[in-house]
Amino acid sequence: MDSPPHAQLHDGSEKPLHDLLIIGGGINGAAIARDAAGRGLSVLLVEKDDLASHTSSASTKLIHGGLRYLEYYEFRLVREALGERERLLGIAPHLIRPLHFVLPQPPGGRPGWLIRIGLFLYDHLSGRGTLERSKAVRLSGSGYGDGLKRETAKGFVYSDCWVDDARLVALTARDAADRGADIRTRTAFVAARRDGAVWSATIRDGGGAQAVRARAIVNAAGPWVGQVLGLTEGVAPERPPRLVKGSHIVVGRRFRGEHAYILQNPDGRIVFAIPYEQDFTLIGTTDVPFSADPQAPAIDADETAYLCESVNRYFAAPIGPADVLHSFSGVRPLFDDGSDDASAVTRDYVLKLGCDEGPQYLSVFGGKITTCRRLAEHALTDLAPFLPAMGPAWTADAPLPGGDIAGGDFDGFVAGVRARWPFLPGPMALRMARAYGTRIDRIIGDARSIDDLGEDMSGGLHAAEVDYLVAQEWARTADDILWRRTKIGLHTGAATRAKLEKRLAGAGG
Ligand SMILES: Cc1cc2nc3c(=O)[nH]c(=O)nc-3n(C[C@H](O)[C@H](O)[C@H](O)COP(=O)(O)OP(=O)(O)OC[C@H]3O[C@@H](n4cnc5c(N)ncnc54)[C@H](O)[C@@H]3O)c2cc1C
Repeated sequence: MDSPPHAQLHDGSEKPLHDLLIIGGGINGAAIARDAAGRGLSVLLVEKDDLASHTSSASTKLIHGGLRYLEYYEFRLVREALGERERLLGIAPHLIRPLHFVLPQPPGGRPGWLIRIGLFLYDHLSGRGTLERSKAVRLSGSGYGDGLKRETAKGFVYSDCWVDDARLVALTARDAADRGADIRTRTAFVAARRDGAVWSATIRDGGGAQAVRARAIVNAAGPWVGQVLGLTEGVAPERPPRLVKGSHIVVGRRFRGEHAYILQNPDGRIVFAIPYEQDFTLIGTTDVPFSADPQAPAIDADETAYLCESVNRYFAAPIGPADVLHSFSGVRPLFDDGSDDASAVTRDYVLKLGCDEGPQYLSVFGGKITTCRRLAEHALTDLAPFLPAMGPAWTADAPLPGGDIAGGDFDGFVAGVRARWPFLPGPMALRMARAYGTRIDRIIGDARSIDDLGEDMSGGLHAAEVDYLVAQEWARTADDILWRRTKIGLHTGAATRAKLEKRLAGAGG
């Protein structure tokens, strides 16, 4: 692809000049980088670790309006998120798929009339979408009641969508790079100060510190947004974000069927139980105020007990901490709206401009995976007066890499993958079709047998895919591949990791 018009980075100074320096390679930083690069701006994104290595790989992985936010009157957020649900499904039909949610109605739960009103609103705020509308169902004796205790006889079913959050970030960053953005992982933003009409910033990677300049800075550092603000001279201080930890547990599959459950708890919170990676059930999340270092949050015993109790109220076969095969925790960097209750703090995003004059600085607070595309559009609207002329908004209908699937027909696409490469085992064909969409061709290409894909690392991961992830998706370590570019870590063990590390060492990782 040709370089965008503003990518001539030098203006006589020794240090390169970018239109935008974006700090943070989570979903928000990646989405802003993609949108800006597609409008012709020169973009440098720095991420201190791996893409999506923090909050953006620890979500519940729903592309949803957020039914429960209606109880907090977050109508703007819910309407926007429901609109985005449909758009994201359109631009990434490989990565995002519709999912039915079963809401059992227990004795003592929210009254049926309240749920009906909530679902009516949810359906209507969605507009004329492609997803099925909600309905009341009998659970006992139907597939929707599988695994549940017999006394939970009635409930409702509604639709939302599912996404592999970390892959959404990687593909968004890939598209940004395809459109000219410079994406640098393992590169930390260290400091910045004004230098006339631009920012002079220091970034640091494994090779040492470098100086760069930018017309504007975007602080999309998630849980570090407050800390990163403090690294820049001359920006108005903001209230620190409200950090709220949310944890998930993964257990062996607890029910048949492709639907998920949304379970009401006596404290008014809800917990999801979602089919996960074929063999598992994902259960989450908690909402715990958090004040420690967000680098590696971990689930605690109380959260595990809470999640087990939540599902044990509904499922016939109880689970306990010993059944937990895997867990992960993330820290929500929420805008502090003064709420006492962690579950009630707004999940909406807030963008703050930090300078009255000179080069501009924008900080991102809160947000959802679901609303990343709109957040990016709003960020660029806010920054437009401080940047060179840029193109119009364009991301609503532009497919993400691999998302150019004819008619969005994913099932038809998978059938085509199986027909073209009949030697691929069924689960591997499906996994790769979901992960790469039409770009699967760039990995499998002319291979005529599974052996042509190189060394088998187990779990359906072969050398050809590893090499592609290194070359195209910034993968450097075994964890990048086992837990973020794929979820093969759930299905494999130490032997796979050892083989992968050897291959990555050979690739310079
Ligand atoms: C438990 C939980 C469940 C959720 N479930 C959902 C859901 O189902 N659906 C949904 O839509 N949303 C969900 N969310 C919300 C969503 O995950 C977040 O809003 C989103 O991931 C935030 O993305 P971000 O880019 O702002 O932050 P992050 O993903 O944390 O990215 C910020 C990045 O900035 C980097 N960084 C920090 N400091 C520096 C520096 N100095 N230099 C360079 N890089 C730096 C960090 O390393 C990090 O990778 C959930 C959140 C949580 C915690």
